[in-house]
Amino acid sequence: MAEHTLLDDAMVRLDEAASHLSIDPDVIEKLKYARETTKVRLMIRMDDGSRKSFLAWRCRYDDTRGPTKGGIRFHPGSTADEVETLAFWMTFKCAVMNLPYGGGKGAVQVDPRKLSKAELERLSRAYIQAFARILGPDRDIPAPDVYTNSIIMGWMADEYAQIVGQHEPAVITGKPISLGGSLGRGDATARGGYYLVRHLAADLKLDGQLRVAVQGFGNAGQHIARLLGSDGHRIVAVSDSGGAIFSDNGLELDALLRAKTEGNSVVATAGTNGHEVISPGQLLGVECDLLVPSALENMIHEENAASIRAKLVLELANGPITPEADGILKAAGTVVLPDILANAGGVTVSYFEWVQNRQGFYWPVEEIHQRLQAIVEREGRAVWNVSREKGVTMRTAAYVHALERLAESIEAHGTQS
Ligand code: GLU
Repeated sequence: MAEHTLLDDAMVRLDEAASHLSIDPDVIEKLKYARETTKVRLMIRMDDGSRKSFLAWRCRYDDTRGPTKGGIRFHPGSTADEVETLAFWMTFKCAVMNLPYGGGKGAVQVDPRKLSKAELERLSRAYIQAFARILGPDRDIPAPDVYTNSIIMGWMADEYAQIVGQHEPAVITGKPISLGGSLGRGDATARGGYYLVRHLAADLKLDGQLRVAVQGFGNAGQHIARLLGSDGHRIVAVSDSGGAIFSDNGLELDALLRAKTEGNSVVATAGTNGHEVISPGQLLGVECDLLVPSALENMIHEENAASIRAKLVLELANGPITPEADGILKAAGTVVLPDILANAGGVTVSYFEWVQNRQGFYWPVEEIHQRLQAIVEREGRAVWNVSREKGVTMRTAAYVHALERLAESIEAHGTQS
């Protein structure tokens, strides 16, 4: 039997949601395939004078609800299947939050940690040169994702402006503030998840100080630890690609954040006030109230799902749990707040950035936070209600909620196009 792909797994979730609605089969047919995926080879000059090429993609999965929106990932393991699946998830994420966007995604198959800053800039500019013709504030709008950041978005926005010969800040989000970025975009992914947990805490019967484990300590992982930590919750375990660290009394966040700023793994804090090294597998099994996968896809699967002892899982990563693991967690009574809802704070503040760029009028950070919180609570509550009414998991409910919106838009476009 051929191995199943990431997109096959994503379709399991689509089919499950469709089974709870009476949806026109045309809608499902439209959402089963990416509308357009472009693959290129980017050639750049390395600092030693040699030339090197890197595979890169941009997928515009579905643009029924608006221009396609989604980040660009720089990762050595990226594939076309991964990019299309991430773009599919963006389609549903934007629909869950009722943002006027379709879903897209891009990637370069590269380990950016092996490039110099100048090489990284050349690669980022080459990406925009290759894809400028399919991008645009009303067509396809990139943003940061794994191993890309505001500096890279700044280079990309600059390259795009040079190509089209005018300022076009709304073509890309997650930019530096000095180039038209939005206040509050930096921690928006984590903040959206944080507002969601806070809003649903009573329904989920969570109260008092929570014990929290965070898998992955990049942008989302660091900010969620900070936000929960400053509310007095106890961060007991954290991991990154270098390993995992644990303290039953709570880790010292300042030490963890300092290690990251210095370019080290969280493991470098071993010995700080009770910090002990554990294996990445042990991190998943830590006794806690809240587990926050904030790294990559498929981290929680058939083989390790049964070890999870958390009451609640907040998916700040995209696709961290396989469909098989979903079943195991459900049977164990663990509630999963799914990626397309839990990490949608990032794209929601990207939307605010795009709106501010188009208005040329910039909002204070309080306004960003307040608008984000209102959307997260409104859509989080709606998903919660679907989950109660239909007796389904929060994941299925989020898909049902998004699919209803997508179906309505697809039908409104007409049936003969
Ligand atoms: N890469 C983020 C995500 O997966 C943000 C996308 C965006 O802001 O467009 O949701």
